Amino acid sequence: MADAHARFGVVHDGTVADYIPALADADPALFGLSVVSVTGDSHDVGDADHPFSIQSISKAFVFALVAQDLGHDEVLRRIGVDSTGLPFDSVMALELNGGAPMNPMVNAGALATTSLVPGATPAEKWDRIVAGLSRFAGRPLEVDEDVYASEAATNQRNQAIATLLQSYGSIDADPVEATDVYTRQCSLLVTAHDLAVMAATLADGGVNPLTREQVVDAVACRDVLAALATSGLYEQSGRWLATIGLPGKSGVSGGIITIAPGKGGLATFSPPLDGAGNSVRGKLATQHLSRALGMNIFASA
Ligand code: GLN
Repeated sequence: MADAHARFGVVHDGTVADYIPALADADPALFGLSVVSVTGDSHDVGDADHPFSIQSISKAFVFALVAQDLGHDEVLRRIGVDSTGLPFDSVMALELNGGAPMNPMVNAGALATTSLVPGATPAEKWDRIVAGLSRFAGRPLEVDEDVYASEAATNQRNQAIATLLQSYGSIDADPVEATDVYTRQCSLLVTAHDLAVMAATLADGGVNPLTREQVVDAVACRDVLAALATSGLYEQSGRWLATIGLPGKSGVSGGIITIAPGKGGLATFSPPLDGAGNSVRGKLATQHLSRALGMNIFASA
């Protein structure tokens, strides 16, 4: 871990996301790594305790809650787990598939997933999401109000995607309300250490390594890991799987989680991103650690 931090801390490629104005203020020098095993052992290096908004990494955990609730067959039917091969905010992904979402890790599928969280009102859905993600983290999570306000003022594209989903009959919820709940979930504050705990929970069939609580069942976890393998890194998901060999999920604030099934979770945090919206240092450090620790699930030895 220390070696990965030292090797890639000197890389200065990539740019901090600025399409959400509040994210543009992030310090590009921040770099943290955290690994948590399914038994709760952990190792943190660098800025692993620096809080940042979870962004797209929330998609993995809200999908877990919905997969738990709907069950395997229904979640595949209503959301899907197939790769779009397109950027995370693509509208084309919906047009290609007759107006139905294809997977929960790009915005169209994520908005559909959030709208499927049980609850009579947006407030009830939100309460369920914040409680569920807090159980994954093993501590109460809170919204970064500045990031939320900043994205809420600029998320017309996501509102348009939700409206398109509604026009195809792919969501029942009001599109503006569904987008608002989704924007809040993306604004939850986490650290790399929190994300490693959340990833380790997915690695252990839904059991949180710190609290030992069964957050979701093992079948829901398997569905999440399948969706991450096909689409966790957007249009770079195949390249990620070929170089790292583990399911992962990135977010535009600079986090990436990686799950080693049965072993544990790794989280990296570094704000500068490549063109697809994936953390440059996070990808390099994860690739190095996957190789150094022999974690590639496709390796036979
Ligand atoms: N909240 C962001 C959005 O919907 C999340 C995107 C991401 O992290 N890739 O645009």
